[in-house]
Amino acid sequence: MKMVLETKEARPYRNIDASQCPGCPSNLATKLVMEIVFQLAEQRGDQPIVFGQGCGIGRDIMHRSGIGTHDSGCVGIRAAMEMRGIDRPLVVIDGDGQIDMGFDDFSGAFQYGAPYMHIICDNQSYAASGTHATGMTDMFARVSTRPSGRVGGPNGRVNPRKQPAMMIRYSGARYAATASPAHIRDFERKILQGLDNMPSFIQVFTPCTLSWGYNDSDSYEITKLGIDCGIWPLWEWSDDGFRRTVRFDADEMPEKLRAYVGMQRRYAHLTDDDVAAMERYILDLNAQIDQMQAAFPGKARAGAAS
Ligand code: SF4
Repeated sequence: MKMVLETKEARPYRNIDASQCPGCPSNLATKLVMEIVFQLAEQRGDQPIVFGQGCGIGRDIMHRSGIGTHDSGCVGIRAAMEMRGIDRPLVVIDGDGQIDMGFDDFSGAFQYGAPYMHIICDNQSYAASGTHATGMTDMFARVSTRPSGRVGGPNGRVNPRKQPAMMIRYSGARYAATASPAHIRDFERKILQGLDNMPSFIQVFTPCTLSWGYNDSDSYEITKLGIDCGIWPLWEWSDDGFRRTVRFDADEMPEKLRAYVGMQRRYAHLTDDDVAAMERYILDLNAQIDQMQAAFPGKARAGAAS
């Protein structure tokens, strides 16, 4: 495994877009994460170790332990650091495909409790190798392995995506959250929370110009619409409870959803019935988020209510 050498004068992460598509939100999110991590480390006198792999994540400059093994790689690095008396912040950035391929690795490392932060830039596909579906591909989205947007052909199943940020809290994450680079203050605060509450996991919504099929100048708008329409709720979950961090407006949802799907080629085949099914899914998903918030108020909110 190779590492990126960061110094005050040389910041290679600012130039990790050599092979990425213009406007790639994964690439932007990766740079933002690294900027925040390195700035905080500088203030604290720390020397972070950051590595990873993913389609938009600086293919040429980031270094990795191998597909689906980043989390056990982190456990190994932490063990080696402990043996040598070294304590440095450890961060891995990768994509949703890594979670699918290495779920045992991923959940096992969190259960083990190694202090590191795992960020995924979730573009809902294996974009680097031909846009195959991952477990995080949204319902009805057309990918190369699901040309009809359904599993098993035009009349096949409609699959909602997995929610790894929910699942990992029960595997030992002290902090789990969803985030978006279009909501930068929320994004920044969550990265800082993740660094202070390891092991932590943050799933970042990162559209993909190529596999989602939209103009690269529309990355920000698509990213923001994905949050505003409620298909990607922003929340965080820690010992301080579960909290929605960006509001969802059910009345505005239908209009925002139509704008969101209307800008993407992967949804060009949708019928009115499909859009209605997406609306029901979004309402259910957001009702669950509200129920989680009520069920896990955390010590501060529970105390205030009593
Ligand atoms: S294919 Fe998608 S994720 Fe990969 S670099 Fe291009 S926009 Fe980014």
